[in-house]
This record gives sequence, structure tokens and C-alpha cells, in this order.
Amino acid sequence: MKQRAVVSLVLTLITCAPLAASEKLEPIPNRLVVLTFDDSVKSHFTVAGPILKKYGFGATFFITEGFTFKTNKKDYMTWEEIRQLHDDGFEIGNHTRDHMGVNPSNLDKLKEQLQAIDDQCKKHGIPKPTSFAWPGNSITDKAFPILQEHGINFARRGGSPEHDYDPGRGYAYQPGEDHPLLIPSAGDARPKWKMKDFVDAVLQAKQGRVAVLQFHGVPEGEHPWVHTPQEQFEKYMRYLYLNKCKVIAVRDLAKYVDTTQTIDNPWAIVRKRQQEFQDQLAIANKLRHANQHAEEIERQCEETCRPQRRRRLFEIFKPLRQRLFRRCR
Ligand SMILES: [Zn+2]
Repeated sequence: MKQRAVVSLVLTLITCAPLAASEKLEPIPNRLVVLTFDDSVKSHFTVAGPILKKYGFGATFFITEGFTFKTNKKDYMTWEEIRQLHDDGFEIGNHTRDHMGVNPSNLDKLKEQLQAIDDQCKKHGIPKPTSFAWPGNSITDKAFPILQEHGINFARRGGSPEHDYDPGRGYAYQPGEDHPLLIPSAGDARPKWKMKDFVDAVLQAKQGRVAVLQFHGVPEGEHPWVHTPQEQFEKYMRYLYLNKCKVIAVRDLAKYVDTTQTIDNPWAIVRKRQQEFQDQLAIANKLRHANQHAEEIERQCEETCRPQRRRRLFEIFKPLRQRLFRRCR
């Protein structure tokens, strides 16, 4: 009898024990997309917000009072408009007061920069931001303790250093490999982007990876190099809708990602991707050379071989060249 009571007590304790953070997490579905909008641009309120609402998408708007925010209300939102985005269910994130590129020499100013945005949020009835976007693609792990102390759970960066800034390309976020304070943008929209650029970024959202997308103005005011035309943006959002993507804000990643998990070396995954990219380039170059070599043999044969031999050689080369061409692209 006593033994049964002990077993019963143990079972009760097991079933009532609190779950570890990782056990409460949902598995990351394929096509999980995070939308982010930087720099408090007016069209976030007038254009992007209404389109996102139409589709029921989540998104994070990263707010700064930098550039000409304080005086130029043609190109930048008012705090009342930012508050309206919050009321509409979107996340308001912190992008520093002055759009300060964070580096080891100005860490002493970071707390004040974050606090200024928090204070404005409080004044306008917006919760204290828990997501951060690194301004101007400047990143340093020396800032992690300050961000963590400030209650920041997630911080999004651009596509660099793995990719160059200009094309706006990037890798999908790999929880467990990427540090939650160094979340890469899988795509950072550019005016010359075609649908393929957008789709390439989104299609990375599979096998536990999340496509975090970065936009600026839709349209952009002061920074034309990160402009997205409204018609193009509408096509992008329609693609996400038709392809049944789950579209969320940065804060919603907490459902899928254990933010307490430590990443010993946050730069290891960055270096690994850079190495893989170099290896792929080397293979592509070899294939290109092989293709040129095949072209040369074909040309020589055209001049010297008998017709029957030429036909046979072309039969062998044609599928080979097609394969090489596909891999070289
Ligand atoms: Zn910015």
C-alpha cells in the first residue's frame, strides 16, 4: 500500500513538473517568414500596414528618430502613426534613437540610444520593445550584454558579412546555429529586385530555417537605394499568401526558438557559410572551364572530323554541356 502511494506521488511530481523551455516550443514549420520594416518610413503606415492587414500577416516595424524624422513628416511617421501600427497588432521594435551604427567604440552610448525609443514608446502607450535591428549593418558581439540587460530577446542584422550589401541577398536564420542577437536577413529588398530575388529568399524557409525579410520604404523617401515600389511589394505579399507562408513578427519567434540557449561561438556559422560560398564559387569556376574546354573540342571537331564522328561527339557532349550549364548558373 505504502509502495503504491510512493509510486503515485512520483507520477504526480513527474506530470506536474514544469516543462523545460525547449519542451514548450513549437516545431518550426516550413515557409515560416518574418517581415521587418526599418527606419520609421511614412509608407509603413500608409501603404505596408494596410496591405499586411489585408492578408492577416504579422510584422515588426523598427523605429528610429534618426535622419530627418523629427522635422520631415512627409517621409517619416509621427509617433501617433507608430502607435496605430501597434494598435493594429504589429510589433514595434527598437532601431536606436539616432540610427547609431553600433561598434566597440560607442557602446557607452547604446543604453541611452535604446532608452530614448523605450521612453517614446511608453509615452505613446506602446510596450517596451523586445526586438532590435542593428542600424547601418554594423554589428558587434560586445554589445550583447547591453542588449540582453535591456530586455532585448532578438536582434536582426542584414545579409552581411556573408554577402555583399548591394544585391540585398542573405541566408535564412538557423536557430541553434545563429545567435538570436545576430539573426541574418535572408533578403533585404532593393529597387532592382525581381520576383525571383524575393522568391529565392523565401524558399530558404525550410528544414528548421526561417526566412527573415527586411524592407525599408514602400515606397522609400530619403534612401532610394532601398526603395521598394508599391506594386512590387503587393506582388511579394500575394506570393506569400498564395504559397501559404506563415508570416510573423520577430517577437513571435519566441514560440519556436529557445532564447536562453547559449551559442558558444556566434561567428562559427558565419565563417562556415563564407567558406561554403567560396567552395561553391571554386566549383562553378571549374565547371565553367570544363564547359569552355568542351566548346573548344566541338569547334575543332567541326573543322576536322568526318561527319559521322562529329555527330557521335555531339551526341556525347550535348547532355554533358546542358548539365554543366545548369550547374554553372
Ligand atoms: Zn536602419
